Amino acid sequence: MTVKVRFAPSPTGRLHVGNIRTGLINWLYANGQGGQFVLRIDDTDLERSTKEYEQGIETDLTWLGMGWSERHNQSARFPLYQEAAERLKATGRLYPAYETQEELDRRRKVQLSRGQPPIYDRAALKLTAEERAALEAEGRRPHWRFRLEGKRVKWEDLARGHCEVDTASMSDPVLIREDGLFLYTLPSVVDDIDMAITHIIRGEDHVTNTGAQIEIFEALGAAAPAFAHTTLLVGADGEGLSKRLGSLSIMELREKGYEPLAVVSHLARIGTSDPLEPGASIEALAATFSFDKLAHRAARWDPEDLGKINAAILHGMDYAAAQPRLANLSADLGEAFWTAIRANLSFFGDVSGWARVVGGAIAPVVADEDRAVVEAARDLLPEAIDAQTWSAWTNAVKEKTGAKGRGLFMPLRKALTGLDHGPDMASILPLIGREKAAKRLAGETA
Ligand code: GLU
Repeated sequence: MTVKVRFAPSPTGRLHVGNIRTGLINWLYANGQGGQFVLRIDDTDLERSTKEYEQGIETDLTWLGMGWSERHNQSARFPLYQEAAERLKATGRLYPAYETQEELDRRRKVQLSRGQPPIYDRAALKLTAEERAALEAEGRRPHWRFRLEGKRVKWEDLARGHCEVDTASMSDPVLIREDGLFLYTLPSVVDDIDMAITHIIRGEDHVTNTGAQIEIFEALGAAAPAFAHTTLLVGADGEGLSKRLGSLSIMELREKGYEPLAVVSHLARIGTSDPLEPGASIEALAATFSFDKLAHRAARWDPEDLGKINAAILHGMDYAAAQPRLANLSADLGEAFWTAIRANLSFFGDVSGWARVVGGAIAPVVADEDRAVVEAARDLLPEAIDAQTWSAWTNAVKEKTGAKGRGLFMPLRKALTGLDHGPDMASILPLIGREKAAKRLAGETA
């Protein structure tokens, strides 16, 4: 059996780290198994779905390296859902109901006051043809409910183990609204059957839904696929992410400058037994993915861990990989430059600052109390500068001025780079070059 999964985001907002974790687990599982990953745009909610958000989903997935083998829009497949609905109507599993929201709310309150579970009482099933005709003559349009069998629906969940949902404790779900619009529940099952989806991998907020949907699979004469319901993401403080999701969109992470591999590595490894470190590639992450590694606890989205993974990727990046990106930022100052500065990067864009230190103009920083050391250093600066210069030169300055340790190195670093931190001076002094170094030591912007 070839594994075929689907990621079915709704284009009603930007993808955030919570949605994309679900998508990523689908992608990793499919690719690890040599299977297929289907992108299915769940635009059944025509009012809230937009083409702009749909485009955003594609941009985000592409940026993260999550390619798809098939792509569908559910809004283009309504005839299929209609046909399935007719079949369910014919077998009496889909029935019209006419209650307004207010009527339903009222009944629910009464049930609660009597200590009864607030589930739909199926009054509509008892309507005679005349009563229905009378309601329609009043101008009422029906919504359509799926008649649940009311049983313990069981499955072996790849992420949660044995699961049971008692559909007797649920209201018959509405599949079609009174304006004729399909809610997500039926289209999802129809497409999963039509596209021969083998595994439905989604968040644990869908567990109850799965009970009803398994009954719909059966009512349509199909075997339900395998299921995996993954835990929802929490923040570093252990609280749910929902309130902060706006600031955790993939778009925002991209704009902040995170590496896509850092985002997928973090999302692939939180809540698992794997160490929080970068994968070599998204394909390598897929090769080692397994549901067995997913802990039965919440996965913690922690920007600090993401930052560490991001930095580790940059610190280990070789020049060949960095070169086109350096060139793009007009910061390709050669391999020695990249090797010297990469360990100081938090984000790739930080290279611009270091390129300025090495190849551009900076204002030296010289405090009054450091002036003597800096002046001595300028006098002692050798004609030719190479990788050995720094140690011989600073030794000479030390002998002449008596300055040592931080009192020696920090004034020189600040004069030469304008900063109090940065790469190893021995490797960047030759990159700065003698002419610029001499000027900076003389206090000139160079
Ligand atoms: N659009 C639904 C969601 O994002 C899809 C759920 C599913 O995967 O079946 O929650």
